[in-house]
Formats: sequence, C-alpha cells, structure tokens
Amino acid sequence: MTAGVGRVAIAGAGIGGLTLAIALRRLGIDAHVYERATELRPVGAGLSLMANAMLALRAIGLEESIAALGEAAQTSVGRRSDGAELSRFPIAEVAREVGSSAVLLHRADLHAALLDALGAEHVTLGRAAAGYRDEARAPAAVRFDDGSEVEAGLVVGADGLHSAIRRQLTGDANPPEYSGYTSWRGVTDTLCGAAPGQLSETWGRGCRFGIAPVGRGRVYWFAVANAPAGERDAGDPRPMLLERYGAWHAPIRALIEATAPERVVRTDIADRPVLTRWSRGRVALLGDAAHPMTPNLGQGGCQAIEDAVVLSGALAAHAKLPDALADYERIRVARANGIVRDARRFGALAAREGALFQAVRDALIRWTPASLMHDRFVELFRFDDPFAARRALIE
Ligand SMILES: Cc1cc2nc3c(=O)[nH]c(=O)nc-3n(C[C@H](O)[C@H](O)[C@H](O)COP(=O)(O)OP(=O)(O)OC[C@H]3O[C@@H](n4cnc5c(N)ncnc54)[C@H](O)[C@@H]3O)c2cc1C
Repeated sequence: MTAGVGRVAIAGAGIGGLTLAIALRRLGIDAHVYERATELRPVGAGLSLMANAMLALRAIGLEESIAALGEAAQTSVGRRSDGAELSRFPIAEVAREVGSSAVLLHRADLHAALLDALGAEHVTLGRAAAGYRDEARAPAAVRFDDGSEVEAGLVVGADGLHSAIRRQLTGDANPPEYSGYTSWRGVTDTLCGAAPGQLSETWGRGCRFGIAPVGRGRVYWFAVANAPAGERDAGDPRPMLLERYGAWHAPIRALIEATAPERVVRTDIADRPVLTRWSRGRVALLGDAAHPMTPNLGQGGCQAIEDAVVLSGALAAHAKLPDALADYERIRVARANGIVRDARRFGALAAREGALFQAVRDALIRWTPASLMHDRFVELFRFDDPFAARRALIE
C-alpha cells in the first residue's frame, strides 16, 4: 500500500527527522533527509527519553540499542535549595508498569546512534529548506535556499522550532513565543558525587537546577532562570552560575566547576501556541516543527519520536496519502498539544519568584498525593503502536 508516496523528502536531521527516515526505510518506503547544517553537531547536552519514547523506539527495533547508550532513571527527586527532599517518585516502577524504562543519555550518543541506524548515505548535509512546492499535476518538492528543488511524493518538515516548512504551510501563524526563562546545560566527565540513577530537580525562587547521570560516569545538568529574551553571557558563564546556584546543595557547585565553559550551552526557552492541523496536501510537519514545547516535562524529543513512528505506520497502512495524514493527525495532535500546554503551565509556575508563592509551591509539591503523580505519569509514559500489525506484516 504505502500511501502511494514513492519518495519522502524530510527537512531536518534532528531526533524527529532521523527517526522518521529510519522508520520509513524499515517499512520499505524510500526516505531521504536534507539538513541545513554542514556537519552534524548535536546542540545541547543530555536528554531524558521517557518510557513512551522507548516504547516507540521498540516499535522500530531501536529500544535496546538506544537504552544501552545511557542510564535508566530509577527515582526522580524534587528538592529545596538546601537539599531537603520535597518529593520522591519511583520513575523506574512507573516505566516498568507501562512495559519499558526511562533512559538518561547524552544527545551526541543518541544522534550518532540514529545516524548509524539510518546510514549516512540517506542524509544530505548543507541543504537548507526554504519552503516547498505542492501544485496539482506535478510531484511535490522541497525548495532549498539556493533555489534548487528535490521532488518527492511527500515533504515532511522536521526542521525544528523555526521551521521553514511550517512557515509556508501555516502562513507563519503562531510564531515562537519566549517563555521568559532561559537555560544553561552541561555534561561532566565525572559523577562529582551525583547519585547514579537519580534524576533530581531543585527548586529556587524563579530558578531551578536539574541533575541527571547519563551513564559512563557522566552527569548532565541544567539550570533555568528568568532572563530577558536574547540575553547572552559575556564570556565564561560559570562565575554567574556559581553566584546563583553555588550555595545550593551538593553536588551542584562541583558540577558547574567540572564543566569547561565552552561546553556550557545556553538556550532561551520558547514554544508556540498549538496548531490543530499539521499537514496540507502532500506536506506534513513533525516534532518541534509541529508542536514545539518548553522542556519542562522532558517530552519534546519523546513526542518527535512518537510522531515519527505513527507517521511511518500510517503511510504504510493506507493506500491514499490524505487518509494516512488524517490518521497521523487524529492520533497525534491532541496528545502532543496537551503536553505543550501542560509543559507551558508547569514552566510558568516554576518561574514565579515571590517568597510566599515559593512556600505554597513547595508545600504543594510535598503534599501532592503519590497516586495523582502516578496516574499522570502512567498517562504520559504510555505508547501503543497503532500500526503494529501492519509493521509486523511488512518487516
Ligand atoms: C533545554 C532543553 C532541554 C530539553 N530536554 C529534553 C529532554 O530531556 N527530553 C526530550 O525528549 N526533549 C527535550 N528537549 C526538547 C528536544 O530537544 C526537542 O523537542 C527535539 O530536539 C525536537 O526534535 P526535532 O527533530 O523535531 O527538532 P530539532 O532537534 O530542532 O532538529 C531540527 C533539525 O532541522 C535542522 N534544520 C533547521 N532548519 C532547517 C532548514 N530550513 N532546512 C533543513 N534543516 C533544517 C536543524 O539544524 C536540526 O538538525 C529539550 C529542549 C531544550 C531546549
């Protein structure tokens, strides 16, 4: 069947674009990725892949190899800046309940593994999509910024937050919105005393610090604070980070000090108001191009992986492209958009600076019933491949 698409041209070799190309090629659908960057250097530091992403990776045969790259999270702990525990959540247990694990890993390792699974020959670097062409009685095509085009039966915009494909598809509706807070991320080469398997987040007044061991003795850390949009650090950011977080509980100071300044990545946090359609004609959006979200629930990459698995399955299961894209949107839009909204709400609460608010928030974190947390995470972590039967038939 394969929706009669012939060739799928994917703009963007991020987590979403690479996963989609892998999933499609496993189903016998020709797919090629066009990436703007001239070399693949993953931006960012660490990443958590929650159980839903691992289940989606299982559907395309990648769960085990990707899990082996990192470290399974056992517990998730919320703390005050003096180290006192506000909450403790058995993340591994909940992941097991839905049939998988939550994995903490280095982004570079994930990108390398995805590229390896796809085959570098299916990615062309240094090609920046500027938009697309989709006219009657002619194949669709990706248009590049040098004026050249590549024809395809389906064009997928997996080109991230500032997607050029989305710009054309939506007429640039819903531009990115800065959240009001920025982030710094780093990975150390030593544990610095961090507890293996423990994902932790420490709450201050309008700022946070997260710690996630990512395997092989390395630790991914992130700091979040309110800041004007577009502000940049003048030189080494660590003195400022130490001033802000250095007196917090161990091993926060040690983690900041152990990271070379050039390996600290600063990113302003943004999302966009949600879209209710992710496709038009022979063009579809995926990952951050479709539903960029603030990283507060650690789900942006996970949702891009879910998109890739569902879109590939829908294309294999339907004879007609409009039916496949309608199914993709039916299955994915409400779930991903719900997470965009939840992540935004969570981030806005975390960014509040008042002392009274902080006391109330800490009490809320401490006293939120475990059963409520459990149910919310089970819902978040579930993923059932809707096209498993079709996939099994083909592979
Ligand atoms: C601070 C922070 C922490 C995060 N933590 C997590 C986490 O723990 N877990 C999680 O699941 N998610 C996390 N995320 C979110 C996650 O990084 C994104 O959701 C994920 O990378 C989206 O993947 P993508 O492939 O859709 O887009 P991207 O990763 O943005 O990839 C898009 C690709 O397209 C390329 N591109 C851009 N424009 C063009 C163009 N015009 N033509 C061709 N190529 C183009 C880019 O170079 C890039 O390679 C975090 C995000 C941030 C900012």
